[in-house]
Amino acid sequence: MTALSKPARNALITVALLAALAACGPVGEVNAPPRPPVVGDKDGNPPAAEQFAAVATPTSGAPQVFGSYTRGCIAGAERLPTDTPHWQVLNPSRNRAWGHPALLAFVRTLADNIAADGYRGLLIGDLAQPRGGPLPSDHNSHQVGLDADIWLTPLPQRRFAPPELETYEPLSMVDLPRLTVMADRFGAAQVAILKRAAEAPDVERIFVSPPIKQALCKRTAPGARAWLRKIRPWRGHTSHMHVRLACPTNSMDCKPQEPPPEGDGCGEELQSWFKDTSWTIQGSTPYQPETALKLEALPTQCQKLLTVERG
Ligand SMILES: [Zn+2]
Repeated sequence: MTALSKPARNALITVALLAALAACGPVGEVNAPPRPPVVGDKDGNPPAAEQFAAVATPTSGAPQVFGSYTRGCIAGAERLPTDTPHWQVLNPSRNRAWGHPALLAFVRTLADNIAADGYRGLLIGDLAQPRGGPLPSDHNSHQVGLDADIWLTPLPQRRFAPPELETYEPLSMVDLPRLTVMADRFGAAQVAILKRAAEAPDVERIFVSPPIKQALCKRTAPGARAWLRKIRPWRGHTSHMHVRLACPTNSMDCKPQEPPPEGDGCGEELQSWFKDTSWTIQGSTPYQPETALKLEALPTQCQKLLTVERG
C-alpha cells in the first residue's frame, strides 16, 4: 500500500468498504409503504428478494448460515421478541426480526447491559427475514441473520404502543452540513451503546456515519481505544448503528469478511470522509436495492431453503 498515491489508496479503501459493506438504506425508507406486487423478470421469475420476502416462517432445525452477508440465507433462524422489558422492535410488521441465535443473544446481552447502565434499553430495527436472503428494500446485506440495525435513541421511559412501533422514527444524531454530531443528542447513552456493542466478542464491525466515528475518536482516552477498531465509517447510519457478527464457528458455509484494519481507524481513512463529502448530499449516492438479484446468484443451499416447508 505504501507505493500507492493517496487517491489510489483512497480508491482502494473505498473499494474495500464497498466490498465489505452490507450497509443499510436511507433511514427515510424505514416507514416505506407496503411492497408492490411481485413483478417477474424478463424470464418470468420473481427476484430473489421477493421470493424470500414472501416466506413468513423460518425452517426448523439447527441454525446454519449459507453464503455471504450480501449473498446468502439462513436455516433455523429464530425471531427476536418484539416487546420485552429492555427492548422494543420498531416496524415489527416488516417481519425482519429474525436471526441466528448468536445475534439474538447479542441483542439480549446488549439491551440488558444498557439497561444496567441506566438507559432503560434499546430500540431495535431490522435484523433479517425468516430465511434471510435479499430484502426488497433498505438493505444490501442483512441476508444471513448476522446483521442488526440498532437505533442510537435508547428505549424511552414510556413504552410504545403497537401502532407507534410502526410509525416512530428515531432522530438523527448527525449535523451533516457541519459534519459533526449534534451535541444535544449524541451523548453518554450513545457512546455506551456503541462501546458495549463493539466490545462484544462476536461482533466483527459496526457501521456508523463518519461524524459519529470522529466523535468517538475524540472522546475516547488513550489506552482504552481498542474497541474503536470495530467502528467503521459509512454513509447513512446517522440515527442507527449497523452491527455485524462474525461467521459462527459451526457454520462452515458462512463466507467471512476480512477483519477490520489494525488500529483505531481514527487516522487517514476516517479523514478521507471529511475531504470528499459528496456522501452527505441527499441523492448523490442513491440507494439501489438489489431487487433484481436472481435466485441463481445465491448459494444453492439458499435456493433449496425456499422450497422447504416449516418442520
Ligand atoms: Zn443495517
